[in-house]
Amino acid sequence: TGPGYYSDRARLREAWEAELDVYRAARPASERLWREGLVHMPDGVPMLWMAKWPGPWPVFVERAAGAHFRCADGIDHVDLCLGDTGAMCGHAPAASVAAISERLAAGATMMLPTRDAAVAAELLSDRFGVPSWQFALSATDANRALIRYARQVTGRPKILVIDHCYHGTVDEAYATLDADGAVVERRGNIGAPVPPSLTTAVVPFNDLPAMEAALATLEVAAVLIEPALTNIGIVLPDPGWHAAVRELCDRTGTLLIIDETHTLSAGPGGMIARDGLRPDAVVVGKSIGGGVPAGAYGMTAAFAAAVRDSLELEDIDVGGVGGTLAGNAVSLAGIRATLSEVLTAEAFTGMIDRCTEWTVGVQAALDEFDVPWQVTQLGARAEYSFRPTPPHDGREAAEADDFELQQYLHLHALNRGILITPFHNMALMSPATTAADVERHTVAFREAVVSLFG
Ligand code: PMP
Repeated sequence: TGPGYYSDRARLREAWEAELDVYRAARPASERLWREGLVHMPDGVPMLWMAKWPGPWPVFVERAAGAHFRCADGIDHVDLCLGDTGAMCGHAPAASVAAISERLAAGATMMLPTRDAAVAAELLSDRFGVPSWQFALSATDANRALIRYARQVTGRPKILVIDHCYHGTVDEAYATLDADGAVVERRGNIGAPVPPSLTTAVVPFNDLPAMEAALATLEVAAVLIEPALTNIGIVLPDPGWHAAVRELCDRTGTLLIIDETHTLSAGPGGMIARDGLRPDAVVVGKSIGGGVPAGAYGMTAAFAAAVRDSLELEDIDVGGVGGTLAGNAVSLAGIRATLSEVLTAEAFTGMIDRCTEWTVGVQAALDEFDVPWQVTQLGARAEYSFRPTPPHDGREAAEADDFELQQYLHLHALNRGILITPFHNMALMSPATTAADVERHTVAFREAVVSLFG
């Protein structure tokens, strides 16, 4: 497990304390804002995840543009977190900002469609190969909607997810396998409504016999997967895994939902377009709005027709799928501009090149000091983990976790003006990320490795 790969805990603690001192000295303005925030917000932050950053208090941001932001203390940062993908398009991309601002000034939310809607839906259809789209405010809500639709049209009770998946705050997905292979709730599942074994089947990633057995029960309405795991480190699919999953779904009448919220990093149409996958439904979110809340879910013509035929007009506003501001005019203006002018095919080429440079830089430091960690790239996203070989499933990835070590590396980076995603060791490239930005990380990462292994 993780600590096994870095055993000098005394050295780690000492290095951590030294970085804490550096952080405290350099961030008085953020400290002041945090203390003000503590009066009316738990942990001084507007959403509790923001308390998970390494260090005694979070960085407060003043301005963000492209791949950089400046904090309240005036420090410039290279942002490799990019709002955990919310800003994969770069911060404040000009085309998105223009379209969003214009729409905001012309009316944001009327619960009526605007002309951007059909354009956004067409752009998504062209990229992901399914023709029928609906909009939400988050990827979470897009997943929730599809889960409801899948149960509605199949009449089956369960959703199948992958062990150690993440699909947003979706009740069904807070399930994992215990040591005996039973479905149990995952650690930290807050106020669970019912035991997840009632709603959910769970199988390990890349495990086809387990998937086959779970689908053979005919209890599963839909398989909900990321095409590669990205939320427990990156875990790539075995060759042929996706084709076999599709075949198992076809054979058992199970719907296949592919959540491309993070794997969009693979290219303009995510892994679906890159690898020729054939889902019944697709979820995207986070960065597609160019910075404003936006989620979208696409369906095949057959799935969309089955859903629509099953719904009474009289009930659709209170039927469990919707949201008053979902599909609002600003989200759709943001999606239209971001997909057509920012996250373009050309932009992806540069993003993926930058990410390859980042991966090479990390690998070089690991090689130089014989560090038994690995780095995996998925297009514009890459991640290192504290194990010598790429993980084959979520459990292997989870077992390599080492929270202390991770916090240290992230604080070390932060003190050198580099932001890494707090939940794992992931870096993401935007269209605005430059080779110099990547180089800043390469230099700092080598320094961190020296501090631990040198
Ligand atoms: N799906 C995937 C694959 C994700 O990684 C996430 C967020 N990390 C979500 C859905 C949910 O996104 P949001 O929190 O923006 O709803």
